[in-house]
Amino acid sequence: MGQKQEKYDAVVLGSGIGGLCSAALLANKGYKTLVVEKLPIIGGRCSTLKYKGFKIPTGVVAVPMSGVLRSIFDDVGANFDVSPITVPPKYLIDKRIIDEPSDGQPLSILSRFCSDEKEVSMLKRGIEKAGTWNAPSNETTLLDFLHQYTGNKNIISYFNNKCDIFFTVGAHEVSAREYFLSHTGSLKDFQPIGFANQGSISLMKALKKAIEAKQGRVLTQCRAKKILVRNGIAEGVVVEGKNGETTILATAVISNTGPKKTVALAGKEHFDRGYLKQVRNMMPSLQMWVTTISDRPLFDVPFLFTLKTRRLLTFLSASLISTGLAPEGKYVHYSISGPATQTGPWNLKNEVNLHIQDLKDNLPDFNKYGEILHVGCYWGELPTYSNTPIAGFNNIPQKTPVENLYNVGDGVAKEGGFSCGSPGCALTARIVVEDIENRFKPGQLF
Ligand SMILES: Cc1cc2nc3c(=O)[nH]c(=O)nc-3n(C[C@H](O)[C@H](O)[C@H](O)COP(=O)(O)OP(=O)(O)OC[C@H]3O[C@@H](n4cnc5c(N)ncnc54)[C@H](O)[C@@H]3O)c2cc1C
Repeated sequence: MGQKQEKYDAVVLGSGIGGLCSAALLANKGYKTLVVEKLPIIGGRCSTLKYKGFKIPTGVVAVPMSGVLRSIFDDVGANFDVSPITVPPKYLIDKRIIDEPSDGQPLSILSRFCSDEKEVSMLKRGIEKAGTWNAPSNETTLLDFLHQYTGNKNIISYFNNKCDIFFTVGAHEVSAREYFLSHTGSLKDFQPIGFANQGSISLMKALKKAIEAKQGRVLTQCRAKKILVRNGIAEGVVVEGKNGETTILATAVISNTGPKKTVALAGKEHFDRGYLKQVRNMMPSLQMWVTTISDRPLFDVPFLFTLKTRRLLTFLSASLISTGLAPEGKYVHYSISGPATQTGPWNLKNEVNLHIQDLKDNLPDFNKYGEILHVGCYWGELPTYSNTPIAGFNNIPQKTPVENLYNVGDGVAKEGGFSCGSPGCALTARIVVEDIENRFKPGQLF
């Protein structure tokens, strides 16, 4: 037990999207709120590192410009410094470039991959039914679903690519249910997609400013060491910061550290076996992100989808949209790849080599003018998503079995909100804050 003691309505462990969105909403509603972040910088997997004047993401690059994340910024008066991608994407397949049709219909692209109009129309009908009538089972993969209508390799590669990018898992593994529910859920928020002009950390700094404007506090280099639980109720947390240990008493404890760490911080004796099993079964996903720099653009549109490659999924020429990501006159590009299967095992060196080989084979200007600045493999403790939406996966609720102890973030995204990182995390914050508001008023502890 720490020597010093402080009291808050809510303490938030971790300053990722879920944590800062929760804290900003609570502070805005008058709750005395503290955020503790173990690292020297805020944002977790929505942050930015600077190297040689270029901005390297720790996570979020593609920012949803509508929906729940955006609405939280508006509610709390935080600056949303994001520029939309207004240029349609292109598709690279079998060394050919295919343009996105200009009719605004998401599925008209399918006719560019397959000349059998009857087959395409049957597939469209099946997709429409899954979206508007009833999503398929969580036990079925999207590939199984597609095979009911088509075996066309180009079409399959199109869906595979979209799944791998937005769901971090290919069509052969992704839950068909999550795929369809997300299209009416969190994926809709990516209309349009944008890039943060100064990197994603600027969004997290804007939330921090909004928290502090309402007398909330955000402490960095302050690690949560123990969640205090008595008689099945969370009472606060012991933190260790620059000035040693402090006991924070709080009515609500919100953990953004992920369900596994939440259980470890509170002690597993406070959780029932079913919950512990759900948490144990969580499967983090792996993606490789390569940052390339150049003196000139390497491709003419910001979003290039690369189909039928060994590993490469997309090539984002982010500084074509957000010039603040690179020094003046320079360009920065982020490319993504995923392994053939999220269930592993992988050879990370091999995965990175396949990614780079794909860049060389598919982007002639990468060979001539590109220079690799950074390679990152995101998995394990720093995954791309905390709980991969493979067929049969479990959603974990935001409320834990311990009263007044909540989780927020991508480990506890709602059904239909799994697949897309930031909007799913923001939604967990909304859900938790609504619950807190229904249960107690600011200052009720004292
Ligand atoms: C490379 C990569 C690219 C991605 N691209 C996109 C994208 O383009 N668009 C998108 O929407 N999503 C993207 N995602 C997913 C998205 O980044 C994550 O889903 C989201 O940022 C997770 O946020 P979170 O709320 O779960 O918190 P996290 O980002 O996981 O933050 C948790 C925080 O808690 C802190 N913490 C942990 N333990 C403690 C402790 N004991 N005490 C105090 N603090 C603690 C950590 O330091 C961290 O800051 C990407 C992810 C990665 C890795």
